[in-house]
Amino acid sequence: MTSRKQPSSFSLLSSPLGRSIAISGCLLILAVILMNGWSLRDSWQLSVNAARETAVNLALSQARQAEDTFLQTEISLREIQRNIQQRPPGEVNADELSRIMREQRSRLPQLHGLFYYDPSGRWIAWSTGRSPAGVNNSDREYFAYHRLNGHNNIHIGPVIHSRSTGELVIPVSLRLNDRAGGFAGILLATVRVDYFRQFYNYYELDDKDVLVLMLADSTVLYARPMPDSYIGRNLSSSHLFQQMLMKSDRGSGEWNAALDGLPRVFGFVRSERYPLVVAAGFDKTSLRENWLKSRLQDVILNAVLLAIMLAVGIWILRQVRINIRNQHELAHLRDELTTINHTLQSMAMIDGLTGLANRRQFDLFLRDSLKRAFRSGKPVSLVMIDIDFFKQYNDAYGHVAGDQCLENVSAALRGMSLRGIGLTARYGGEEFALILPETSADEALAIAWRAVRAVRSHHIPHATTTIPARIVTISAGCATLFSTNQEDDMKKLKQLADDALYTAKRKGRNQAATAGKAIDAGS
Ligand code: GH3
Ligand code: MG
Ligand code: MG
Repeated sequence: MTSRKQPSSFSLLSSPLGRSIAISGCLLILAVILMNGWSLRDSWQLSVNAARETAVNLALSQARQAEDTFLQTEISLREIQRNIQQRPPGEVNADELSRIMREQRSRLPQLHGLFYYDPSGRWIAWSTGRSPAGVNNSDREYFAYHRLNGHNNIHIGPVIHSRSTGELVIPVSLRLNDRAGGFAGILLATVRVDYFRQFYNYYELDDKDVLVLMLADSTVLYARPMPDSYIGRNLSSSHLFQQMLMKSDRGSGEWNAALDGLPRVFGFVRSERYPLVVAAGFDKTSLRENWLKSRLQDVILNAVLLAIMLAVGIWILRQVRINIRNQHELAHLRDELTTINHTLQSMAMIDGLTGLANRRQFDLFLRDSLKRAFRSGKPVSLVMIDIDFFKQYNDAYGHVAGDQCLENVSAALRGMSLRGIGLTARYGGEEFALILPETSADEALAIAWRAVRAVRSHHIPHATTTIPARIVTISAGCATLFSTNQEDDMKKLKQLADDALYTAKRKGRNQAATAGKAIDAGS
């Protein structure tokens, strides 16, 4: 059984249909992936942009709250400053002032305390009960600041621990001048860090989102949700101070926070009124997680769609593959059938024993030759051949040897050249025929004699023949005819050749005889 060739994936892709389906499928899937990727990217960008906008608004709200807090504090300080500066020097009533301070403090929840220090740092008046014994505040940063700077603006300093209560406070101070403009002491308001802590806790934010209040010099005043150890840190090397604030007083962007190194989406604002900077930052990781959650349904739906497309594509390719395999098998079967057909056809025309043309082919060839001869006007000759005393041969040697003898005689006849236009056939039994188109009677007789000699030259022993040489011989009778294209042309020619054969037999066999010059079949 012949093994059938299975088309491999290579043969699938090498077929134009398979290739075009595979390429279009891949392009389609690629397009869907790209479109989805593009839309996801867009959606993520939109989500980041929205977060940036929210961060800026949050920073603006923080900045406004910080400005309000410090503005109210400044107003209190200025009121006390006016009160002190209205009185002649040395006539300040400390008790009265402390009472006013307590009153002011009770009005403003952000205030931790109000203080008045003389130029040497000694406590003159304060709002927070008793002063700690023997304390002098001239070592504080704001003291040094106001001694050096003669202006009348408030100064907001870095966070300190209150000497009166130990609480974390932001010092807001104002310089007092004497009439000559000299340094006459300091008014100090301390703002509670807890006030901002409380305010920032109002916002609904994730654990890793940050709100940071800083001095303009980048010192942290308060950072939510960091522990208090972050207070006082200097962030001057941060992206915010190195890049963003250099370009603009407000804005947004994405960078890693200097506080903890986490990537965040930030909004920031620099206060116009006070040397303050605020920043609000959303944790990018949780932002991405939330975004992914909101897109999860879409992503799953698209993945399912993609899987369906893939499955359909694979199914179509498999169908194409089956189709191609069927086509291959059909082509293979067709080739096999064609070959079998050719074999059958040639078998139908060939004699099984001798390999010469059989009777069927003899008839077709003779009819064809007569038709052509009619058109060309040339003669057709026929030589009928019969083995002499073949019955005796069979009787003497048996039928198997008889068959062998038939094969040997065939070989002798096949070895004759018939100029490529004639046909050697086994007519039947031990009779053979040579069809010789375009051959005259004389030429035919010469060929018949060549046949007689050819068989003779094989020297096939025949003990029971009457031929003296005791070998197998043949008798041949030839006839020649000009075709009239009539149905009985064949019959006539065969009859004439047969008669001539009979003549040869009669004359003693082992020879050729002719019916004479070519006859016109019409005569
Ligand atoms: P003649 O010289 O008059 O032709 O004598 P003959 O014996 O050849 O005459 P006949 O035609 O009576 O004998 C033909 C014999 O050929 C009869 C038959 O046994 C034998 N024969 C015919 N076909 C075959 C064949 O295919 N194989 C064998 N072995 N013998 C065959
Ligand atoms: Mg015979
Ligand atoms: Mg015979």
